[in-house]
Amino acid sequence: MSEGRVHSIDSFGTVDGPGIRYVVFMQGCLMRCRYCHNRDTWDLRHGGKLMDHKQVTADLLKVRPYISGGITVTGGEPLLQPAFVADLFAECHQHGIHTCLDSNGFAKKITPDIERLLDHTDLVLLDIKHMDEALHRKLTLVTSQHTKHFAEILSERKIPTWIRYVVVEGYTVDPHYASMLAEFIQPMKNIEKVELLPYHGLGAHKWQVLHDNYELKNIKAPTKEQLIAIQAEFSKKSLTASY
Ligand code: SF4
Repeated sequence: MSEGRVHSIDSFGTVDGPGIRYVVFMQGCLMRCRYCHNRDTWDLRHGGKLMDHKQVTADLLKVRPYISGGITVTGGEPLLQPAFVADLFAECHQHGIHTCLDSNGFAKKITPDIERLLDHTDLVLLDIKHMDEALHRKLTLVTSQHTKHFAEILSERKIPTWIRYVVVEGYTVDPHYASMLAEFIQPMKNIEKVELLPYHGLGAHKWQVLHDNYELKNIKAPTKEQLIAIQAEFSKKSLTASY
């Protein structure tokens, strides 16, 4: 049995993977995305609530008739608590429940617990924030290398993966960067689709509550034309991108 620090649970999620899903938000993240809409999940040591994985599974089983899709673990960043998520997914598999990991791929080392977690993962939603290293560091304050390496591991393991790409003015709105991403993932046969996530500032108030400076407050959502131009870069590489 392992314990995890859980930020919150949504027992009726519709946007994180296929179908209606039981969504577990883990506490803790090492990225510092300037548009983070879950700013309150960053702190790994405080906040949220300690739960053991059997507690979570027992809660999920109560609503199982309504969960057409399965379970998604997101965050924060689930890879920071891999033993907990591995045990949770293993138990879900025993009950025949589809498992989905929503991750930024920021694992400095692929530990045995992460390997075990991947053994029990049916689908990954992998957030790739930026392909350009300097801009990735500017946007998230960390390197892109771990995420790229994680994408390669998912490809080697042939784990079905959806790429998620936030489109935000000043960072990723230029189609050139979408082209870099399309080139990177095109040889990976496990990529089922790309989800473009137009920037929104809905999480800004959480930064205010924590007395942190939300730098993107004057940034507008991308236009339809901008999204279509980005979509076209993926189409050129025979990849489907939706928004
Ligand atoms: S990876 Fe997700 S939770 Fe972490 S800072 Fe970025 S948007 Fe926020």
